Amino acid sequence: MPDDTAFDLIFRQASLAGHDRPVDIGVRRGRFAAIAPTIVADAPEIVIGGRAVLPGFVDSHVHLDKACLLGRCGHLHGGLKAAIAAVSAMKRDFTTPDVYERGAQVLERAIAKGTTWMRGHVEIDPRVGLRSFEALKALKRDYAWAIDLTICVFPQEGLTNDPGTEELLVRALRDGADVLGGCPYTDTDPHGQIETLFNLAARFDVDLDFHLDFDLDTSWMHLDEVCRQTKRRGYGGRVAIGHVTKLSALPPDAFARAADCLAEAGVAVTVLPATDLYLLGREATHDVPRGLTPVHRLLEYGVTCSVATNNVLNPFTPFGDASLLRMANFYANVAQVGPEGFGGCIDLVTTLPARLMNLRDYGIKVGNPADLIVLDAPTASEALAGIAEPIMGFKGGRRSFSRPAAVLHAPDSTGAQSSSRAGGRSPLLRDDGGV
Ligand SMILES: [Zn+2]
Repeated sequence: MPDDTAFDLIFRQASLAGHDRPVDIGVRRGRFAAIAPTIVADAPEIVIGGRAVLPGFVDSHVHLDKACLLGRCGHLHGGLKAAIAAVSAMKRDFTTPDVYERGAQVLERAIAKGTTWMRGHVEIDPRVGLRSFEALKALKRDYAWAIDLTICVFPQEGLTNDPGTEELLVRALRDGADVLGGCPYTDTDPHGQIETLFNLAARFDVDLDFHLDFDLDTSWMHLDEVCRQTKRRGYGGRVAIGHVTKLSALPPDAFARAADCLAEAGVAVTVLPATDLYLLGREATHDVPRGLTPVHRLLEYGVTCSVATNNVLNPFTPFGDASLLRMANFYANVAQVGPEGFGGCIDLVTTLPARLMNLRDYGIKVGNPADLIVLDAPTASEALAGIAEPIMGFKGGRRSFSRPAAVLHAPDSTGAQSSSRAGGRSPLLRDDGGV
């Protein structure tokens, strides 16, 4: 039995995946130190009251550098090409403080919505130079108290066709970039870009994350080349591809072949529902295709998959609150996933992106950093169904955010406002005041 000084903090009655009953979680020196039905110890405690506890959401694909641009957009919101062109024009004027300020807005929203890990994709090319990259490095440092931000540098507007871009990518990789991204569909030599990026990734020993196959034309794909290079270079488990909306347009046999190819190569897939649904199918006059790849079906083939935010309030996606729980709910709704699959959709924004990002110490396990969030629902599946609010979060054992419950002000019988009561709480949960 632990002695009274064994813990710095104890969470009481946490509903945790894999446990039939709520458990206590002890934290010592910023790490999980015990998980048991009851921890007998005298330490500061927080009563969770049977609410769902997760190790925080993992957002594997977010563009902080081009977020929150809506006020600057003097153009019509069209398809993908129009969005790329709009941001291309704007980013010549990006400054490091400007990118920092907009990125911070998204990070703070993400933190307050329960995200504890994020891969930020940042554009590098001669138009913007390393200014956005410098902003992301500062954001990574300044918000480390609440979120682990890894930086993925990539050439949004092509590599082989954009002189000077490769040199800038090399400078960023020498200066702290964690991951190398790609965007072959904007390159005049897509296979050349893929080849060059694999060479650079091997040289700097970093993982790869491509924007890939982002339309609904199934007559051609870059997926095969990425899988071929991944296998040839023994890079399985270190390559992810994002969007891959072409897969949504494939008939079952072709979908199965592509899924087998991805699983065999060890290439992971991220879908970005808000952007995929907003930009694709614009040519349709009616019966508009969804253009959202069903990653819950790819999981059945052994492909590592995630659902992520991508863009927030910009020409690619003029929506967003950086909430991954809302995004997982959105995915489930559009992909027609029923309650039996809600737990799997939680995995798509937690454990699976953690695997995609090769996070070594993610999860509520003894020895791992004490990162957790509390959702205002009895289980994670119910939280997904109702988009429950994250009510508090901890990073390394230190509280990173709190969200008090809403208060309903019903009138009493005299017409005056009655005493207030907390609203939005599940009746299944007792209000113990501990949160
Ligand atoms: Zn993206």
